[in-house]
Amino acid sequence: MLYQNRCGYAFLGVHVEKRIGGTSGMKKVVKFGGSSLASAEQFRKVSEIIHADKDRRYVVPSAPGKRGSKDTKVTDMLYDCYSAAGDAEALTKKIAAIQARYQEIIDGLGLELSLEEQFKEIRERFEQHAGSDYAASRGEYLNGIVLAAYLEYDFIDAAEVICFDEDGVFDAEKTDEKMRARLGETERAVIPGFYGAMPDGSIKTFSRGGSDITGSIVARAVHADLYENWTDVSGFLVTDPHIVQNPETIETITYRELRELSYMGATVLHADAIFPLRKEGIPINIKNTNRPQDPGTLIVESTCRQPRFTITGIAGKKGFCAINIEKDQMNSEIGFGRKVLQVFEENGISFEHVPSGIDTFTVIVHQSEFMEKEQNVISGIHRAVQPDTLDLESGLALIAVVGRGMRANRGTAGRIFAALSHARINVKMIDQGSSELNIIIGVRNEDFENAVRAIYDIFVQTQL
Ligand code: ASP
Repeated sequence: MLYQNRCGYAFLGVHVEKRIGGTSGMKKVVKFGGSSLASAEQFRKVSEIIHADKDRRYVVPSAPGKRGSKDTKVTDMLYDCYSAAGDAEALTKKIAAIQARYQEIIDGLGLELSLEEQFKEIRERFEQHAGSDYAASRGEYLNGIVLAAYLEYDFIDAAEVICFDEDGVFDAEKTDEKMRARLGETERAVIPGFYGAMPDGSIKTFSRGGSDITGSIVARAVHADLYENWTDVSGFLVTDPHIVQNPETIETITYRELRELSYMGATVLHADAIFPLRKEGIPINIKNTNRPQDPGTLIVESTCRQPRFTITGIAGKKGFCAINIEKDQMNSEIGFGRKVLQVFEENGISFEHVPSGIDTFTVIVHQSEFMEKEQNVISGIHRAVQPDTLDLESGLALIAVVGRGMRANRGTAGRIFAALSHARINVKMIDQGSSELNIIIGVRNEDFENAVRAIYDIFVQTQL
């Protein structure tokens, strides 16, 4: 069984097991990332995964990714190639290198497929300066053609079904309508990720990593029961593996927890991939193409499954700066906070946190964003609220300890601070979100890694 028989998602595990090889009428959308489709060998794994479950009906591929650490992603090769569009000789060489990547896959799979026509057209469009979005999108487009041929699925060009408006903003309504109508005509199809079309037919891409978004959009349009996002890791880890060796995997995470952790730097899924599905309550399962037997991480709207370790995850970032403002009788000065924050707004700086005391008010911002406007902000605050003192403290790191389990457990904050004290780390700031979903802790940059390790140890290591 894929999932243990706890409440909430247990039924899915049971059905999945019974269903292997047959169809249950469920619909799954499966997206495969670049590393999952980087070579013929990876294509074979993907095909095996898809054919193991007949409900995997709609497939969204990325462009071929890196085959090793020194390799180049096809998307990057395409951007580079397009920048040489004015130089016929360089263009020939660069297109040939890209074509060779696909040919190697086609030959490795023993497919009778030629991409000659497509490459001829791509070259012409490059010479006509069709745009860098068009150029980058060809990675997914061509990979979609190869994958569809290999799986014997229909190929649907994303330009037909993913719509942007005149301003280049994704048009959800039009897309849903077109996608539903088109996919309603086909049982099984491959729809390339990452791009769509503007009303005039020109190609527009999402931001980098955007095939995840296409997968979500397709899942929503077809009312999928599950969106499987296949990558090269077995799900979200409780914390950054560069800081803690072999951290545990998160089994189940809610969209809100994921948002908190992604915001603080944890990445596996494109942040914008969550929004189309959140409203629909469609779960996402992050899976590993190289270890399909691993359950991966299930992302859900809500669940009664408690996380294994009280906390769900720990993420953080360095490079914040605190602007500490003090003024006698600040507490009785109505509008003080608004006036201070207005200065940040006028300077186009978004703030992260605003911890405050009776006569103190602190604004925490990204140092890189703040630095060039620093003097404008300081003089602005002086003019706006005439503080007694104003000082800056740079080199701060923020750590988010996130978990839906914190609300039901006493002593979570106590355990965090005991662990930090034991590790001799000075806590510079504390902020607990009103939802009790997260506790944010500010420490000095140089204490960051030790602090993450101390929190991981107290909640995870000691519970194993
Ligand atoms: N191929 C695109 C990129 O490298 C999109 C994706 O892989 O999701 O960003």
